Amino acid sequence: MLSTMQDGPLSLAILLEYGATFQSAATVSTWTGDGLRTMTFGELGQESARLANALRSLGVGKDDRVGTFMWNNNEHMAAYTAIPAMGSILHTLNIRLFPEQLIFIANHAEDKVVIVDGSLVPMFAKYLPSLKTVRHVIVANGDAASLEAPSGVEVHSYTDLLASQPDTFDWPDIDERSAAAMCYTSGTTGDPKGVAYSHRSMWLHSMQVCASNGMALSDADTTLAIVPMFHAMSWGLPHASLMAGASIIMPDRFLQPEPLLAIMAAEKPTFAAAVPTIWQGVLARLAVAPQDISHLRDVVVGGAAVPPSMMRTFDDEYNVRILHAWGMTETSPLGSVARPPAGTSGDEAFAYRITQGRFPASVQARLVGDDGSVLPNDGKALGELEVRGPWITGSYYSPDGAKIDPDKFDNGWLRTGDVGTISPNGYLTLVDRSKDVIKSGGEWISSVDLENAVMGHPAIAEAAVFGVPDEKWDERPLVAAVLREGAEADAEKLREFLADKVAKWQLPERWAFINEVPKTSVGKFDKKRLRAQYADGELNVINLS
Ligand code: AMP
Repeated sequence: MLSTMQDGPLSLAILLEYGATFQSAATVSTWTGDGLRTMTFGELGQESARLANALRSLGVGKDDRVGTFMWNNNEHMAAYTAIPAMGSILHTLNIRLFPEQLIFIANHAEDKVVIVDGSLVPMFAKYLPSLKTVRHVIVANGDAASLEAPSGVEVHSYTDLLASQPDTFDWPDIDERSAAAMCYTSGTTGDPKGVAYSHRSMWLHSMQVCASNGMALSDADTTLAIVPMFHAMSWGLPHASLMAGASIIMPDRFLQPEPLLAIMAAEKPTFAAAVPTIWQGVLARLAVAPQDISHLRDVVVGGAAVPPSMMRTFDDEYNVRILHAWGMTETSPLGSVARPPAGTSGDEAFAYRITQGRFPASVQARLVGDDGSVLPNDGKALGELEVRGPWITGSYYSPDGAKIDPDKFDNGWLRTGDVGTISPNGYLTLVDRSKDVIKSGGEWISSVDLENAVMGHPAIAEAAVFGVPDEKWDERPLVAAVLREGAEADAEKLREFLADKVAKWQLPERWAFINEVPKTSVGKFDKKRLRAQYADGELNVINLS
């Protein structure tokens, strides 16, 4: 028997109309360096209508891809809301990618229009002649005349283009399964791969961001959205904010610890989101310039493992709770969030909080062993994490229908490439990326565990661990460590420090002290680059064995 229930489409046009009317007093603001430029969600609705009318006037229609090459700011927010709501597809371009990757991505997605931030015009100008399908470039927050247009391309000023447009738009009915937005993986191996989110997946994902066991976003919140809108949809915060009526502050290009702390001092956000390296920088700054940040009810941190020592510092010194979360571009991105189970406290709760988190009902998860067998969720068996659900991608975007990387999918499950355990009550603990696992004498050493242990030393700012060939054990860990400014420590002392923290056979004998851990375009440790530096003899390795 079919149900009697209506089948209302989960469309981002409906979400925009809701936010712009029933949550019209909430705001989106952009940091200018010494204050905010603010729009209410009501005004965002009008701005989105003007942008949609402007794009329509340039010939942008259903399913056309509109790229953004922008910082987090009000204009990017308008692109986030207007483009999917008009039935076109928002394509966020990662400004930190290598030129050839960015060109590949924009051509692969066949972007027709790109909205570019004025401050990024000099960078974008280098790519533009290689973008084969782009016909219009819209420059926001800057001088359109400074961008020279190749033949066949028109350059417009965002302000001028929108000025004469009506502030209403007849938002279309949209099939909830159609694509609303696209994002490419950062592509540390092979070509970047495109994920196309649907209206339905983004709606459901927004509900999870708002859920109390997700990020618990509500109209009482003001979020500092540090996580870039050009990476994994800023973890779903822009659309979830519309749903929750939560105000959102965009840091624009001011992503260094000092301006971030200035925003916090001035605006007292209740919630913030960023990768661990951003928070490491904020902590280092706070150590020399203390400031009360206890207005933050929660800080969601993910994209890479949160060192437990960092979580402790936030708890003990700043009275701010870090919520550790796991996800991927392919998972919209929110997968799991590490809220401890009700009734736990103290060390028991802390042990849950440093996991990658508990899966919600909509993200089914399982572990698969080397032989393809499904492993038990007993908190001990180590395997590759596979997930499926309504906001997990089922394939990669391909313009001609060819299957891209089919081995990343296993009978309807996404193979994440992450290796870890799942506890009986659904908490994920990651030990590594499958490609980063260190196998020493046939046993696995978790690079993440070693990194966390080393980063627990007060003299260490950051540390990355990767496997290097070893005659006797096949592979052994090498620690590439960065000392805090003015701090001193040598390999021997650090190894001693680890002695009661990891098993004896896991104690690393190879150490290199470096100035900075190289990072990928999305702020993760770039172990591929570290391995290459090691292979090229660029690391000065101390061997204690
Ligand atoms: P991306 O698609 O660029 O967001 O990268 C996704 C990958 O980041 C995941 O597959 C993990 O390897 C890693 N990652 C994300 N969150 C975490 C976390 N909390 N702890 C450890 N690794 C993480």
